[in-house]
Amino acid sequence: MKALPLTPRGLLGFDWSIVTAGGVDLKETDPRTMASRLVHNIFFAGEILDLDGPSGGFNLQACWSTGYIAGESAAAVNAPEAGKAKA
Ligand SMILES: Cc1cc2nc3c(=O)[nH]c(=O)nc-3n(C[C@H](O)[C@H](O)[C@H](O)COP(=O)(O)OP(=O)(O)OC[C@H]3O[C@@H](n4cnc5c(N)ncnc54)[C@H](O)[C@@H]3O)c2cc1C
Repeated sequence: MKALPLTPRGLLGFDWSIVTAGGVDLKETDPRTMASRLVHNIFFAGEILDLDGPSGGFNLQACWSTGYIAGESAAAVNAPEAGKAKA
């Protein structure tokens, strides 16, 4: 197999894409809460962030982890009583 060089000729296009890196710069979000540093009370998760990794689980883990943090943080800000009831 090492003696079989392959040269990619191009990409298959958006319909076949596996992961998307979104337009929200990581520097514009607080990683502790996933809140925007620019706009109050907006939280980001998953592929809207300018973040991607190799296929194999990195992107799924990124969307799950940022989604959890963003959801918890948004609830803490907007529905703090709901968070207390859960605890
Ligand atoms: C074929 C394929 C294989 C993949 N394999 C892997 C892999 O092996 N490992 C890995 O790590 N990653 C893999 N990925 C990438 C991974 O699935 C994504 O990175 C991840 O699911 C992104 O999660 P997300 O929540 O950010 O976005 P999404 O899962 O795309 O969720 C966005 C949701 O928002 C909804 N939505 C869109 N617009 C609106 C609107 N206006 N109002 C309301 N809802 C809206 C959509 O319907 C969708 O349900 C794969 C992706 C594809 C397509």
